[in-house]
Amino acid sequence: MCLFCKIVNKEIAADIVYENDEVMAFKDINPKALVHVLIVPKVHIKNVGEITKDNAKILGAIHLAANEIAKKMGIFEDGYRLITNCGEGAGQTVWHLHYHLLGGEGLKEEII
Ligand code: AMP
Ligand code: ZN
Repeated sequence: MCLFCKIVNKEIAADIVYENDEVMAFKDINPKALVHVLIVPKVHIKNVGEITKDNAKILGAIHLAANEIAKKMGIFEDGYRLITNCGEGAGQTVWHLHYHLLGGEGLKEEII
């Protein structure tokens, strides 16, 4: 079982900030911004490259969760960034689909 599946199954502890039937979100262990949360589907999908017509609904669930979490973390009004790395060349290191939700002071500096 992959690292994020273990977090979803609560076999490995994480600082969970949001959870519903489809997704879970927890604080990144090595934050790159004041607010840095990872949003993951509860089902194992490797990355965006594995999204098909059959499972694409999960992306809507992730984006809805992102809005809710952004409000909860106080970054909704100021603005936030959602990033997903797909594949080794893009810097993906954990092979379970995840969106980085980044916000807060210091984010004005663009990385993309
Ligand atoms: P990526 O490089 O897009 O695959 O991002 C993986 C992210 O997972 C990195 O930002 C790591 O800091 C984060 N990460 C790795 N292990 C954990 C963990 N146990 N709990 C929370 N975040 C983690
Ligand atoms: Zn997994």
